[in-house]
Amino acid sequence: MELKSDVIVVGAGAAGLLTAISAAERGLGVTVLEKNRKPGAKILMSGGTRCNVTQDTDNRGILDAFHQQGRFLRTAVGRFGPDDVVQLLADEGVETKIESTGKIFPASDRAFDVLTAFRSRLSRTDAELITDCSVTNVIFDKDRDLFTVEAIRGAHVAANVVLTTGGMSFPGCGTTGDGYAWAKSFGHEIVPPKPALVPLTLRDSWATELSGLTLPDAGVAVKRGNKIVLATRGSLLFTHFGLSGPAALDVSRAITTADNLKLLTVTLDFMPGYAESELDAELETADNRKRTIASLVADWIPKRLASIVCEKSEVAPEQRIAELSKKGRTRLIQHIKSMPVSVNGTMGFKKAEVTTGGVSLQSVDAKTMCSKYQPGLYFAGEILDIDGPIGGYNFQAAFSTGWLAGQSIAKRMEAKIGS
Ligand SMILES: Cc1cc2nc3c(=O)[nH]c(=O)nc-3n(C[C@H](O)[C@H](O)[C@H](O)COP(=O)(O)OP(=O)(O)OC[C@H]3O[C@@H](n4cnc5c(N)ncnc54)[C@H](O)[C@@H]3O)c2cc1C
Repeated sequence: MELKSDVIVVGAGAAGLLTAISAAERGLGVTVLEKNRKPGAKILMSGGTRCNVTQDTDNRGILDAFHQQGRFLRTAVGRFGPDDVVQLLADEGVETKIESTGKIFPASDRAFDVLTAFRSRLSRTDAELITDCSVTNVIFDKDRDLFTVEAIRGAHVAANVVLTTGGMSFPGCGTTGDGYAWAKSFGHEIVPPKPALVPLTLRDSWATELSGLTLPDAGVAVKRGNKIVLATRGSLLFTHFGLSGPAALDVSRAITTADNLKLLTVTLDFMPGYAESELDAELETADNRKRTIASLVADWIPKRLASIVCEKSEVAPEQRIAELSKKGRTRLIQHIKSMPVSVNGTMGFKKAEVTTGGVSLQSVDAKTMCSKYQPGLYFAGEILDIDGPIGGYNFQAAFSTGWLAGQSIAKRMEAKIGS
């Protein structure tokens, strides 16, 4: 039996739920088909189960964080920006809080409350959410001017389809890139999907031996020759396989999208708040010159790391600063500000928070989220070639594009009825 709706939303994650709310509140008949037994798996696991919903910034701040992709998001974020996310949650009784990093979380620290807010808002509409329903294909019937969405338990028919199947990261959550093939069948180019916001693996045993050490503020720079490809600053965690934490995750897309990893160099800055000249001046101050190198450097960075820095700089830790040669001082500072590490890969899609790549933005109308090739076909969320840094930006992009898709479909349907 065919089930007919105005809109079928494929995937009930952040983007799918917002699309459904947005369209259903405009009076459209909405059916959401979700592969998992429950919606919003990633919302629940996000932010260490606290769900960093967005960032404490204005619309411009969101767009800037996406660099070139920001232009594509302008209309979407303009229609549903960070304030709207906070307001929607507040309307559902979920207060939010801003942390020192600008990340916004539910005040309860419970991702569950965020998902409950979306679900309860959706439940007040006539939208139907069908779970445990994996979609297998999406086709368009020209004669009937309708889409057929084939799912494991029968076909669904609709005037509009929104693909919100996400990317390929954390495939255990149901995100196995299913939507790409359907998008491709409508002529969309797929920018090769790669893991992003993913921990880095290292060859350096000195780094993996520091497993468990966290630096609250460190810099990570990825360079090709003398050119910086991507540089970040934030908390950095040494692990048994390499590097994790926001600073490492935020540069990972430069590693996974590199055509030749061997051409990249990656360096760590253990004191990003200080210029090399400032550290040099510190070494020169009279009181400090009487101290051993090990004790002074251990004031700046954790002791275990300090001894590695001394070893790599080839300076004797027990030597007095005053005895340190100019060359030794330069080497020491260089290893604090620019310690090279040998990145040999990442932890892959299994541990990636997002996917870089996906449905090419060239083929989607940024003002509506509609396909440029197939009227009635829409995209929202991570299935698109959009990925942002850590900090709530990725959810914001999913919410904004989902909301815009829902509104655009409502307009399309109103225009159809009017004509
Ligand atoms: C561990 C982790 C932590 C994260 N923390 C944060 C954070 O704190 N803040 C932040 O901004 N971002 C975070 N992210 C990223 C964020 O979760 C994603 O950017 C966001 O979920 C993307 O939303 P989406 O709706 O596009 O895709 P998803 O949330 O991935 O939803 C896609 C949905 O489609 C369903 N689906 C897939 N294929 C089919 C099919 N064939 N049929 C039916 N349904 C299908 C999936 O089951 C899934 O429910 C985190 C990600 C991970 C993995």
